[in-house]
Amino acid sequence: MDEPEVVEDFYGVYLLYCINPKYKGRTYIGYTRDPNRRIMQHNRGTWAGGAHRTNNKGPWKMVMIIHGFPNNISALRFEWAWQNPNTTVRLKHLNLKKIPRKETEFKFKLRVLSEMLRVGPWFRLPLIIRWLEDDYKEEFLPERKPPAHMVLCQGTVKSKNLKRIVISNTIVTEECLLCSNYILSGQSKLTCLNANCELLAHVTCLADIFLSPGEYVPIEGNCPFCNTKLKWGDLIRKMKGCSQNSEECPQEEEEEEGSCNEFQELKLVDNPSWFLDCNDDL
Ligand SMILES: [Zn+2]
Ligand SMILES: [Zn+2]
Repeated sequence: MDEPEVVEDFYGVYLLYCINPKYKGRTYIGYTRDPNRRIMQHNRGTWAGGAHRTNNKGPWKMVMIIHGFPNNISALRFEWAWQNPNTTVRLKHLNLKKIPRKETEFKFKLRVLSEMLRVGPWFRLPLIIRWLEDDYKEEFLPERKPPAHMVLCQGTVKSKNLKRIVISNTIVTEECLLCSNYILSGQSKLTCLNANCELLAHVTCLADIFLSPGEYVPIEGNCPFCNTKLKWGDLIRKMKGCSQNSEECPQEEEEEEGSCNEFQELKLVDNPSWFLDCNDDL
């Protein structure tokens, strides 16, 4: 097998294809800075950090990955739009819907991709469209080819970018989508109020995005991922709701398991003023 190409500063959005006969043909779109580690997680299950939706449905193959995004937010927005073409303003006019019977989920995802690559803001990006699995490779239709400056290639890739904290004796599998570092058990983490959004971030990382110059406590901002308008107080209340009882969080069925329990040992290592009381009204 050929040596994988090493790419620095890697931000990738990938497409998984399910080869389990029971679920064959299902797809999943995700974001990663480390594709080789990520596919292993998907195939091992949620205990290893895989997504809820791919759990117990494997094996999955990572058939393609788009990389070359300038930063994580750019990649995350791309991921969201690819997953949700109908709620994405930039794609709404195309009215992208799967053609019943005529089109497989996989072909639909590729069609959405081919449209995305040709509209702003993505058509300006120096993207690399990489097929990881030759057997699944499909040519873009002549009328829907990506812009000429984008690179179409095939072959495996290895990312080289992560300055990870090395942790001994702890299994840490959750990763902040904003800084790409691990979320340690003592660190507080936030999730989006949109139940379909997979945003998971350190409190500090999201606060950095929401804080305007001169502000000490964030007030509100848009989710860097799904663009939902989020009030800081609501985010903190959602987070704290989990720390006060160990029952299932009502709106978090889609969340990865175990997240509630971790809140119990929450240590406030971040700026304490960000942690409003549940009753604080902002
Ligand atoms: Zn972070
Ligand atoms: Zn969101």
